[in-house]
Amino acid sequence: KPILEVENLEKYYGNRGNITKAVDNINFCVNEGEFVGIMGPSGSGKTTLLNCISTIDTVTSGHIRINDKDITTLKKDNLSKFRRNELGFIFQDFNLLDTLTAYENIALALTIQKVKTAEIEKRVHDAARKLDIMDTLEKYPYQLSGGQKQRIAAARALITNPSLILADEPTGALDSKSSRMLLDSMERMNQEYNATIMMVTHDAFTASYAQRILFIKDGKIFNEIIRGNDSRKE
Ligand code: ADP
Ligand code: ADP
Repeated sequence: KPILEVENLEKYYGNRGNITKAVDNINFCVNEGEFVGIMGPSGSGKTTLLNCISTIDTVTSGHIRINDKDITTLKKDNLSKFRRNELGFIFQDFNLLDTLTAYENIALALTIQKVKTAEIEKRVHDAARKLDIMDTLEKYPYQLSGGQKQRIAAARALITNPSLILADEPTGALDSKSSRMLLDSMERMNQEYNATIMMVTHDAFTASYAQRILFIKDGKIFNEIIRGNDSRKE
């Protein structure tokens, strides 16, 4: 079942005579339960593509459907609700709230939705066990390593059961050991929660955790590889 459908997507910056085709007619699809990587060098259009899918940026033309809903035609008032209900985000710089503990950061969206306390606790603990952050839950972000913070951010993205998790250079601020732990955790999110993940990166090792990698350059997809079970890492 397709979760994300990107059709003839174009995003141009500038105006007549000075146009940058940041996204230049991109087409692809991400199915439920897939872990897809988008890889490309700096300036290739990754951030622009991600911003269009995350409904932060408007598109020049084309369509983006998430769970059969065309987000390019959604009204502005409905966008933040759509983001909250359907999408989870993992950013390069964690974006945790400094005044909340790890537990509170992970639980926040559920607290806002008025989910029952016992249910929140069950879900946070389950995610924390799977992502190996049980011992961080009572700590504040400043007390934690980058790797721990990013696994907390991953748990936060997962906790609402979003249709699609968007990760933007999730290992960009991590050393190689922490990157590996985060990517192992994302792999577990994908396999044990059946989370659908689209991850943007310029790093080949990070991309190697995706089951399918789309390569972009100058705003176009120019290659796609599907990973064999043993053709990655090391
Ligand atoms: P990446 O994330 O792969 O580094 P970007 O999506 O940031 O690539 O950029 C793609 C192209 O679009 C680049 O040529 C960049 O200079 C241009 N671009 C990105 N954002 C803007 C903007 N707000 N205004 C004008 N040009 C932009
Ligand atoms: P991870 O592999 O999860 O990133 P590390 O091996 O980097 O973990 O960190 C191990 C321990 O050191 C953690 O329990 C953490 O509390 C502590 N630690 C590491 N970096 C920092 C930091 N920048 N600030 C505070 N504590 C840190």
